[in-house]
Parts: sequence; structure tokens; C-alpha cells
Amino acid sequence: MDIYSKHPNRWLSIPFGMEDPSFENIEICTDGSKMNGKTGTAMVVYYHGTLIDQRKHRLPNHATVFQAEVMGIKMALEFVNNSAAWHRFHVFSDSRSTLQALSNEVNTSPCIAEIKDLYETIVKTKWVRLHWIKAHVGHEGNEAADALAKEATELPHPDAQVAKSRGSVNKLLRDEMIQIWKKHWNASGNGRQTAKYIKEVKVHKHLINKYLLQFLTGHGRFPYYFHRFNLINSPNCSCGQIGDADHYVWQCPSTSNLRNQLVFDRNNPTTLLESRENVQIISKIIAWVCETTAQV
Ligand SMILES: [Zn+2]
Repeated sequence: MDIYSKHPNRWLSIPFGMEDPSFENIEICTDGSKMNGKTGTAMVVYYHGTLIDQRKHRLPNHATVFQAEVMGIKMALEFVNNSAAWHRFHVFSDSRSTLQALSNEVNTSPCIAEIKDLYETIVKTKWVRLHWIKAHVGHEGNEAADALAKEATELPHPDAQVAKSRGSVNKLLRDEMIQIWKKHWNASGNGRQTAKYIKEVKVHKHLINKYLLQFLTGHGRFPYYFHRFNLINSPNCSCGQIGDADHYVWQCPSTSNLRNQLVFDRNNPTTLLESRENVQIISKIIAWVCETTAQV
């Protein structure tokens, strides 16, 4: 589902209120939960205060709480859409971010667009209103949905699908990159550039970026590296010395301003990467090299 497949004047904002349940008509409470790395979603349906239906699903482990909250509201609207007997519905969620996403007409998330489509269909024939409700203040329906969503996380297998969020895709890629690096590291007699600074592959994942990797592997936009592959005529930096990764970080006069900000124990190079500030400085140096080295 892509919002750009619709003309902007048909982009929709679903409003939400802040009323508490009043045990009138049909009231549906929804919730999403993440516990011990597992994700669950649930909805409970009340008719004049009596529980008449409930649903729960376990989502794949990569699903976020936000996705579980969204799925809860989707289940509620599916109930509304399929319901032939009633025409007035209130749907409650304690997830303000989900309701805000639904009320934002330019939100581009596919799962939000899917709900908006469903809502658009429903309101042609029925009356439905979304509400934000405060969590954990004893609203019976909210507590029941919360308990059911937690229960759903304990189902033996996921029984519903959601797309991987951008964040979880990034995490998968990062993990994979580390695995490849690790394999390379353990199998290879090369990588001694890296060995100076890291005794084993164990850098905090959040510290790794493409520039730091170039410094650590020595494979990057360095004249020395390009020259090795006969891509350029000289391995030298414009300052005249050999232009490899270490040169730019330790010797090149062009980067001295940044270099002087590094704080670490000179007798123990592995302390270099223990500080986030150092990592940022090195990344800036390599970024500068990338920008100023000729494209080949
Ligand atoms: Zn230089």
C-alpha cells in the first residue's frame, strides 16, 4: 500500500477523541505488547459493558510495539467492518503515537495507509470514533486488552504477519555485516590494520559506520588502496607521504585539527575506540578523505 497511489486531495486524516469508555453501544479496546523479545496484539469487544468478543495474535519477533498497536486497531476496524448487527462503535487505544500517525494525513507508512482505507470504507455506512485512553489507570477494557496482548506473546508461534520495519531491517543488515566481518577476521591472515585497534570483533554495534570501517580495514578511498589495484598512478597523499588509512588519521597535516582532538592512551591503541567522541573524530577524518580523494 503506497499513499502516492492516491491523489493528495484524497489523503485522509482519521481524527481521535479522548473520551473514556462509557459502556454504550459497542466499545472495542486494543493493545500491543512486547515482552522478552516477543510481540503480541489484541482487541476486546464490549456491548454495553459486557465482553462479547476478543482476538489475539502473536506477531513475528521483529515486529515493533508500534506495529502491534497498529494491528490491534486494524483488528478492531475489521470487526466493525464485518459487523452487520450494529452501527455505532468506539475504538480505544492507549498508543498516542499510533493515533497520531492515523490522524496525520501525510503519514507514508503502508500499515497506516491500510487502516485509513478500511476506515474510509467503514464510514460510508457506519459510525466509528477512535479515542486515546490513558494506560494502566484501571479502565477495564484497556486492562483486558493489555493482558490479552501479553498472553499473545506466549503463543508457541507467530500466527500473523507484519512487514519488517525500517529499523528492524537496518538491524538485520548491521548484524549480518558484523557476522561477515567476524568470519573474515577469524579466517584471514589479513586485517592486521584492524588488529592494531581491535583485539577481537566486539565493537559496540552503534559505533560502526562506513567511515570507521574504512579506517579499520584499510580498504577505502585511500590513494594507497587505489594504487594497489592500479587505479591511480601514485600511492601518495597530496602532502607527499604514503596515503593509507593510518596516514590520514596519524600523520597528514591536512587532518591535524581533528587528530589533535583524539583522547586515548598512546601506549595502548585499543583504547582509541573506547570513546564515542574518538570514533566520531576518526569518522570525520575519513569522511574528509572520501570527499577530497579523486573519484576513480
Ligand atoms: Zn597527507
